[in-house]
Amino acid sequence: MSEFRYCKFTQEWTLFAPERLKRPIYFTSQHTLRKEEEECPFDRGKEEYTPHEIDRIDQKGEWQCRVVPNLYNALSIDHAPSSSKDYYFEKMSGFGAHEVIVETPHHHKQIWDYDYNEFVNYLTMIQKRLTSLKNDKRLAHLSIFKNQGENAGASLYHSHTQIMALPYISSQLAHLIEYKKAYYQRHKRAFLDDLLYEEQQYDKNIIIENSDFLVFCPYASQHAFQVKIVAKKRLSSLIEFEPNHIASLSDILHEFFKKFHKALGEVSFNMIIKNAPYRDYSSTTKEYYRFYIDIIPRIYKIAGFELDSNIHINVVMPDKAAKTYKEGYE
Ligand SMILES: [Zn+2]
Repeated sequence: MSEFRYCKFTQEWTLFAPERLKRPIYFTSQHTLRKEEEECPFDRGKEEYTPHEIDRIDQKGEWQCRVVPNLYNALSIDHAPSSSKDYYFEKMSGFGAHEVIVETPHHHKQIWDYDYNEFVNYLTMIQKRLTSLKNDKRLAHLSIFKNQGENAGASLYHSHTQIMALPYISSQLAHLIEYKKAYYQRHKRAFLDDLLYEEQQYDKNIIIENSDFLVFCPYASQHAFQVKIVAKKRLSSLIEFEPNHIASLSDILHEFFKKFHKALGEVSFNMIIKNAPYRDYSSTTKEYYRFYIDIIPRIYKIAGFELDSNIHINVVMPDKAAKTYKEGYE
């Protein structure tokens, strides 16, 4: 039987309809992307094919992780931020930054192949970019996301993450921040702290946890096999992470992506790393905002119903998804 579940986070309903899943899932492979190494600009030794390097992490005399501007950038730091009227309409220059983190020098290594140290390098590099770009007071927010596989929007096979630095925050994000602030005013607790407590009490959707992070399939997940990783500690952004927090998150990502690969194979997914925006960031942000990561496998396509109603149809119940991650696909 189908059912609607209310998502407290998005404040939208999700329609669960597992009976629509009449046959086994044949996960779409990401292998339609070209895997050949030749002319890949992200490999070690091909550094000259990327624009000037912004930052890198070296170990054993070689780079392990590096950041370059996106060659096909949608935003540029060279445009002065300016807005103007265009007849009845409003427009703004494409000011911002668009960077690529080349996560590994190895062409065929995917995130589920990374060892602990590679996750530490990856998170440290994101932390460095968040800290550095924060100095530009014109920037309001960083969108940090990984598109893995063609169904997730990736155009290159080599493992990478993108950063888009924006001069404003979307009205949806602004609304979410206001909601979290109001929640804190009312309850003196962070919204996500309470959601973690509720998921822990419910217990059916949890995949793994350690002392600092909880990994679970949210009760009202909009997408099949959707995963949330949330900080249990008072952390609102990677900027605030101490080395022990980076170590702890590396541990849990390392363990999770092994499970992910075992359960779903080389399926396309988006991973979004959610830090508190720069705008209005202060020492009190961590009272109401928690750092989290969303991982959304792109197994089923979004269609007209979702676009019209903003109600997603999910054919996999979250407790079943969590069980699959823990025990492998039956
Ligand atoms: Zn490559």
